Amino acid sequence: MKVLVPVKRVVDYNVKIRVKADQTGVETANVKMSMNPFDEIAVEQAVRMKEAGQAEEVIAVSIGPQQAQETIRTALAMGADRGILVQHDGEVEPLAVAKILKAVAEAEGPGVILCGKQAIDDDANQTAQMLSALLGWPQATFVSKLEIGSDEATATREVDGGLETIKVKLPAVCSVDLRLNEPRYASLPNIMKAKKKPIDTKSPADLGVDPAPRLTTVKVAEPPPRQAGVKVADVAELVAKLRDEAKVIG
Ligand code: AMP
Repeated sequence: MKVLVPVKRVVDYNVKIRVKADQTGVETANVKMSMNPFDEIAVEQAVRMKEAGQAEEVIAVSIGPQQAQETIRTALAMGADRGILVQHDGEVEPLAVAKILKAVAEAEGPGVILCGKQAIDDDANQTAQMLSALLGWPQATFVSKLEIGSDEATATREVDGGLETIKVKLPAVCSVDLRLNEPRYASLPNIMKAKKKPIDTKSPADLGVDPAPRLTTVKVAEPPPRQAGVKVADVAELVAKLRDEAKVIG
């Protein structure tokens, strides 16, 4: 089967986010960008499926600007076979991403689509769910363990208070959680090999999707700075402050 892995280019998780002076969004100019960390986990899982003989081909797809090619190259260096860049400058909301991924899935016919559980830039946690609904395929979200059979998958999901194990018929959409695996680092020879792997470029219009945003961002603001703390000399002073000043104990 083919495995489709949507990979998003986001601000690297180590970067200290700065809000633009005009409060229209987050500063991305001259900022280190990387693959969304949950998508690395999805790529790792897909490559492991290929290594285990459960998948024939791993396709990485990204919707974003020309530079999202680099994100696809990272997936190729980790072991994906080919890439698809759906090029679009500017904001693409989860619904538009899901519509584009639906069109790609209909063209490619994957047995499973492995998304990240959420993109760390918008924290939407919507794409996999919307995609599953649009395709009419089953979904397994927040997957921390995945076993692929011939016509169904067994997925363990991280839910409040424990782990839930479900079976879904294939083809299905999964969104992967942190504990599914530890993504590999691409080796230098694999980075070199990835340069020769094909990346097909399309536009949203080629796939019949209008990516125009449906939402308007009213304002983006920094969180208020944290107040400085105080040091107390001993437990007695701490208890007194909690009782008399913070009034959180009686
Ligand atoms: P979100 O719903 O935005 O939190 O994103 C969830 C997942 O959908 C991500 O981890 C990716 O797997 C996929 N995704 C979202 N946006 C994009 C994009 N622009 N390109 C490729 N995949 C995306």
